[in-house]
Amino acid sequence: MPDKLHIILTGEQSDTRSFVVSISAIKVGLFASLIAVVVLIVSSVAGFHFVRENGRIKTSMARLSNELRASRSWNNEFKERLTEEVSLRESRQQDKLGELIKQNSAKQAMLNKALADLKNKSRSIEAILRVVGVKIKVKSSSKNSGGPFIPLSSNTYKDLSFKVDNYLDAIRAIPLGPPVWGTITSKYGRRIDPINHKPAFHSGLDIRQKRGTVVMCTAAGTVIAQGFSRGNGNYVFIKHAMDFETKYLHMEKTLVKKGQKVKRGQVIGLLGNTGRSTGPHLHYEIVYKGRTVNPLKFVRIARYISKRSGRS
Ligand SMILES: [Zn+2]
Repeated sequence: MPDKLHIILTGEQSDTRSFVVSISAIKVGLFASLIAVVVLIVSSVAGFHFVRENGRIKTSMARLSNELRASRSWNNEFKERLTEEVSLRESRQQDKLGELIKQNSAKQAMLNKALADLKNKSRSIEAILRVVGVKIKVKSSSKNSGGPFIPLSSNTYKDLSFKVDNYLDAIRAIPLGPPVWGTITSKYGRRIDPINHKPAFHSGLDIRQKRGTVVMCTAAGTVIAQGFSRGNGNYVFIKHAMDFETKYLHMEKTLVKKGQKVKRGQVIGLLGNTGRSTGPHLHYEIVYKGRTVNPLKFVRIARYISKRSGRS
């Protein structure tokens, strides 16, 4: 293998030229050309790829940008809707709250009215109790029984209700109203005795009425005595709560037995003229804490009640 290559170039008119090129130089040149071609091909392919990729990225970017824009607009729309919904709900809640406040104040007004009514009633009962001279100690509600004495403020519905309950118990026990409708012929107190015409103390009230008229019990209680005596004639004694007793004398006939429970207004006998009596009448007596009291206020209580209630 020769080391050098002799290249002769001949033209038609020009001189003949010859070159001597070493084989290794040709090899280097061919190798360099090959590298250059490879680099060219690779760079062309890469360039083409880059261009294509770039286009794809651009398209993607544009799509993403559109999507972002759409998303933003949707977002704004959603925000608006949300704001509308929230404000609508808020206004509804405000309405509901207003309605509740209105209802509540109506209830409060009703409660206040009930409280005022109860206070008035309590005062009416107090007036009645004052008239008949009965004092009631309302100690404390059952809730704090056994503890220290707590005076009731009477400002709360519960306290007032408790107080009125106490009063009502008292009113049930107190003999109220007349045992028989008729004419009062002799009052309670000092008088000239109608039989022996000497000064004496009349411990009850005499009510004149026809014989056989029904005599009624003036409060709930228990018959503690019933019978006949020369002085009292046919009589009935009834024990009530709160240390009250009532006595009914000179009756034609008694219609209850000892130990019997009686209600207010229950017929206990018939008016008569038995015992130490000068004519048909009922001797009616009220005993409070072991002493006789003037029954007139108790009998005429209706008058006091109407007077009191008419004022309030
Ligand atoms: Zn009498």
